[in-house]
Amino acid sequence: MAVVAVDCGGTNLVFGRTRSPGAVRVAGVVPTPRDAAAIPVAVAVAVAPLVDESVTAVGVGSAGLVDSRRGTLVWSPHSAGGQVALGPEVAAALGRPVVVDNDANLAALAEARLGAGAGYRMVLFVGLGTGIGGGLVVDGAVERGRGFLGEIGHMVLKPGGPVCPCGQRGCWEALVSGTSLGREARRLAARNPGGEVARAAGGDTPRGEHLSVAARRGDPEARAALGAAGEWLGRGLANLVAALDPDVIVLGGGAANAGRALLAPARVALAASVGEAGYRAATPMVAARFGRRAGLVGAALAAEEATW
Ligand SMILES: [Zn+2]
Repeated sequence: MAVVAVDCGGTNLVFGRTRSPGAVRVAGVVPTPRDAAAIPVAVAVAVAPLVDESVTAVGVGSAGLVDSRRGTLVWSPHSAGGQVALGPEVAAALGRPVVVDNDANLAALAEARLGAGAGYRMVLFVGLGTGIGGGLVVDGAVERGRGFLGEIGHMVLKPGGPVCPCGQRGCWEALVSGTSLGREARRLAARNPGGEVARAAGGDTPRGEHLSVAARRGDPEARAALGAAGEWLGRGLANLVAALDPDVIVLGGGAANAGRALLAPARVALAASVGEAGYRAATPMVAARFGRRAGLVGAALAAEEATW
């Protein structure tokens, strides 16, 4: 008995097959279609070679607003269009039950059950990827509110700030995310073509990870850019602690690997912003055990529970 897991992120569609959710390995990566209506076919075509008679179900995590009851991708910030019947269409194509959920919900489930949040009652997962996704797991189950709990990337932290794909200005993810770090990297490389950021990119389009490389080499501009982003990260986390008081924050997503230059100022801002500092215990903040694969592990868990 095995399941197929798919993580449909803002940039890539990552998929794998496993007999044990915690051990799911990546079998392939393809770009996420820019047109949301094309996502079901892209998923079905990508994973079809993995679906043999031992596969009982498919779990799909997607960025954006997901109606997990109907398996519908209601809205994606990274692909045009919405109200896509992702689950039903993939199920019809593959002849297997398909579970669809928000990718951060699934990452939160994976980390709470099997990862860095195991043993804590209330686990807040914050995924710093193309945008910022959030998931809240209490007593081992995903909290959903009326269906869309955890759209934390669209909390407005800076009114009038940078434009976000959701249409607002100054959203948290417009201030700190893989997208915003990439924008900073391109700005610094364009301003200083002989500088460390441009050198780190080595002729490629500069990305957030090049900021981290430049910062580790001591580049003051890259350090300042990551420091400013880290402060926004910490401020947003402080708001979430004020509202929710979770037992632990699990930080995941590709941009969470940006290193000390991002995370140290985030920790300072988190500690300083929680008004009761000194009167309440600091909230532990830990790195996701499954790293950028947390959503894939969660998709495998959800698929396993759908059938067995
Ligand atoms: Zn937004």
